[in-house]
Amino acid sequence: MQARGELFVVATPIGNLADITQRALEVLASVDWVAAEDTRHTRRLLAHYGIGTQLISLHAHNEHQRGERLLERLLEGERGALVSDAGTPLISDPGAVWVARLRQAGVRVTPVPGPSALIAALSAAGLPTDRFAFEGFLPTKGGARRQRLAALRREPRTLVFYEAPHRLVATLTDMIGFWGGGHACVVARELTKRHESFVGDTLEAVLGHFQAHPEEVRGELVILLGPAKRDDEEDQVRAEQLIQRLLEAGLSARTVAGIVADTFEQPRNRVYRLVQALKSGDLLQ
Ligand code: SAM
Repeated sequence: MQARGELFVVATPIGNLADITQRALEVLASVDWVAAEDTRHTRRLLAHYGIGTQLISLHAHNEHQRGERLLERLLEGERGALVSDAGTPLISDPGAVWVARLRQAGVRVTPVPGPSALIAALSAAGLPTDRFAFEGFLPTKGGARRQRLAALRREPRTLVFYEAPHRLVATLTDMIGFWGGGHACVVARELTKRHESFVGDTLEAVLGHFQAHPEEVRGELVILLGPAKRDDEEDQVRAEQLIQRLLEAGLSARTVAGIVADTFEQPRNRVYRLVQALKSGDLLQ
């Protein structure tokens, strides 16, 4: 049964205070309370628009306990709003566990869409947008970060990352190691703010820019990488070389096909036919 209460998940500005929808203002002014990551931050936004709704602190550390209390209030029929410090709540921001809990409990959860840094960055970077993958923040430790990047090396969609300024140069340097300096890259900084900038268009050029302008390595930023181009010809040559080596090592055709299909992300039956052809010498002349 649907409870009477309702939670609105409200997007707020990512810099420019004017980037808030009419509906967001109406909702924030009419709900019983606004749950905010940082109440001082959100108070400034509400004050700017003359909204005096009660603010309740809800962040990653008190989400469980306070979230349960707010759930009770929603079940009693109250209407509340969830906001984060900037942009769309739950997008690299806390709240996902709580929203799942509310849905489970039958509370209606309604999005009030608006700004998000990832969409703002994509909308003006000029990279392909028909397919993209949002990776949020990379692991902060170098080893774990490189491991994640290695796993993304062949990603055929545009990739979007959030990154802290003090890690920008290290991250771009790691990215060059995996994608090469000529790979398409755009860094979108300080979106909607006075010093907004887009720096592109290759990894090498972007790294060079920030090394030459350390004063710009600050503020908030989004890193975008163009889709990896599949080098089918090179893959084919490397797959055949691997098949030969594995066959010479005495592995069965089926095992070889399994390993090579997984390595090059190709259908097993197609690789199996290639293994058979190589084994019988059809492709060796
Ligand atoms: N919920 C937010 C959203 O919808 O975009 C993201 C919150 S996340 C904790 C903060 C990160 O988002 C920043 O470190 C930065 O990578 C990115 N970001 C937020 N505002 C930005 C802005 N104005 N310009 C560029 N990046 C921004």
